[in-house]
Amino acid sequence: MKKWVMLLCFLLIASVFIPRSHADASVIFSDVGTTHRAQAEIYYLVEGEITSGTTATTFSPDEEVTRQEAAALIGRALGLNGERQDTNFSDVTSGSFASGYIKEMTDLKIINGYPDGSFKPYQTLTRGQMALLISRAFGYGAGSVSVAADQLIDRGISQGIADGTFGETHTIKRADFAVFLARGINEKFRTVDQAFSQTMYVNVNDLNLRTGPSTKYPAIGQLDTGAAVQYGYAIGDWNYIKAGDKTGFVHSAYVQLTKPGTVQPPPATSSPTDLTVIIDPGHGDHDPGGVGNGYQEKNVVLNIARHMNSYFEQSPITAKMTRNSDTFVSLGGRVQFAQQNKGDIFVSLHTNALNGSANGQETFYYAGTASNNPYVSDSRALAIYLQNRMMEAWSGLKNRGVNPFGYGNFYVLRENTMPAALVEMGFIDSDIDIKYIGSETERKRMGRALYIGVLDYFYHYEGRKDVLPLYADVNASVSKRLH
Ligand SMILES: [Zn+2]
Repeated sequence: MKKWVMLLCFLLIASVFIPRSHADASVIFSDVGTTHRAQAEIYYLVEGEITSGTTATTFSPDEEVTRQEAAALIGRALGLNGERQDTNFSDVTSGSFASGYIKEMTDLKIINGYPDGSFKPYQTLTRGQMALLISRAFGYGAGSVSVAADQLIDRGISQGIADGTFGETHTIKRADFAVFLARGINEKFRTVDQAFSQTMYVNVNDLNLRTGPSTKYPAIGQLDTGAAVQYGYAIGDWNYIKAGDKTGFVHSAYVQLTKPGTVQPPPATSSPTDLTVIIDPGHGDHDPGGVGNGYQEKNVVLNIARHMNSYFEQSPITAKMTRNSDTFVSLGGRVQFAQQNKGDIFVSLHTNALNGSANGQETFYYAGTASNNPYVSDSRALAIYLQNRMMEAWSGLKNRGVNPFGYGNFYVLRENTMPAALVEMGFIDSDIDIKYIGSETERKRMGRALYIGVLDYFYHYEGRKDVLPLYADVNASVSKRLH
């Protein structure tokens, strides 16, 4: 155990007895005493209102955790909107306390229901399910329980059980779930040091550095515009950072990769002829992709890809399409094509489908650790710029966001070796989205939006000031929203 973990535990234990303005500061559970193994973690989660007692004075640490409780706890940790709402599950009504979290977390593909259309909210959670939930929620991107278990062990969030296995079928107690969740949120509880890999800059004055990922946690310091901080990881919309000798959470809107106020040089006279963009229309030939409303995904994404490509043809930037006809290209073939053509970035075009029951646009990038693609933050920035321009173009669609927790486990993203994003330009089987997907005018507009999104990425993220003149050519201007 790290020395300062012990120090922190001491501070947390002490803090429970220090009166604060916070509503929960006075919570004391009779069944979680100062010697309880999960004492610090439980009170940490209670402080952030991520969990609470089973009564005002008890926590019931040895009770098992149900699937709906797990959804609510992780949902609160991520700062999701927990307002009760209808779900697609037969056994979760809008009256259920966790319905909002279950809906949001299934939309984000963090938690799944069962094939029979049920969610089984009262089923107890197993250690294996817990590992997958934490991996998906916090952006580790595991596709299987065994990978998720390894990720948790590697990070010092969890250990195996006495028999040497991970014990994935064992049920989990409230106290242990609290320990794993608190460790997932705050590395100070972990047994392995967190690496801080990237410098970011504060873009606002008096930014509070907090002990947890919400304003419910107290501030332990303040940062001003231009302060350099080191990024560790994200929990929902909050970044865990190191600033000087302090570590804690700041809202992600107030830190950025470029130094604010840096004077921008005048537009360069050189031309970005060295840049190559790989455009990847999904599916093709015997693989139609999603179908709905009389349309096939393979055809509409090829159409939009051609529009996108036509903008590049009129610019100094080179674009290469992985297919330009109704042919089949394997996933490996797409990645190979991108590498052989020395792509600087890769954009995969898709539409979604879900039995007509969902709608909206979303963009994915791969943030998992099992990736061959090291360009995580680049891919994230690319995804954000694309998604912003997609929503600008088709503003009548629901904004499902950039997969905020890094769950974009697609081959063409994961196995690529360049910044890569996958856009889902609406649901082809949705009554709402088809008004755009089915319109040639709108598809051309989308082709332009993806082109401008790529310019935004090169301009803001790669610092390519020589793409600036290209905006005027298409009556656009540089994105004011930064990644
Ligand atoms: Zn697709």
